[in-house]
Amino acid sequence: MNNELPATVKLVAVSKFHPFEAIEEAYDAGQRIFAESRPQELSAKVKRLEEIRLERGEPGYMSDIEWHFIGHLQTNKLKMVLPYVSLVQSVDSVRLLEAMNSWGAANGKVIDVLLEPHVAAEDTKQGFAPEEIYDILSRSAEFEFISFRGIMGMATFTEDEAVIEADFAGIRSIYDRVKRDFPLLSSRFAELSIGMSDDYPVAIRHGSTMVRIGSKIFGQRNY
Ligand SMILES: *Cc1c(COP(=O)(O)O)cnc(C)c1O
Repeated sequence: MNNELPATVKLVAVSKFHPFEAIEEAYDAGQRIFAESRPQELSAKVKRLEEIRLERGEPGYMSDIEWHFIGHLQTNKLKMVLPYVSLVQSVDSVRLLEAMNSWGAANGKVIDVLLEPHVAAEDTKQGFAPEEIYDILSRSAEFEFISFRGIMGMATFTEDEAVIEADFAGIRSIYDRVKRDFPLLSSRFAELSIGMSDDYPVAIRHGSTMVRIGSKIFGQRNY
């Protein structure tokens, strides 16, 4: 999978609903970034890795694995997620951002985040209106324990490629506007996380820097 991607695009392997063994197998094949969407499942996998390290007597086993969180995160689940992840891709409310900032202050950790805009056609999805994103970034200094790294988005669930194109173009335009209107924002704001198994080629044409691939790596999920 990795050798199909341009060098500028990072591959995030979405391991949700797959056993730890599947992660080990992908790790052995060279994959390093894995993403989970449920707090419980993420912390269970982190614990499983700890157990394996003890069993093998190898504290450094898979030590360069990196976890991202990509699901809806409730403010009462922060401690199951934030100690373990290098990036929370799915920040979808100011309330969550404020809770994460407080957690960061209490635990001395600056948390890297992507902001998730709401895609027009999907009324049920959480996410920010574009104006809310610009508002947050205009007062980013208030969030001392948050490092804003970019935008994460999902296209409408459809086979209609024109709709997917339009969604990715819309998400990309939010990212571009931030880069244009917030020149003082850290240069670390540089990630556009768009593209999943079925639409990543379209996403790459729209400037994706990070694709989140589940089923194409691990096979179908059994929910
Ligand atoms: C599950 C999930 C993916 C991966 O989906 P696939 O279609 O299996 O590649 C990507 N992003 C998010 C936010 C997800 O929840």
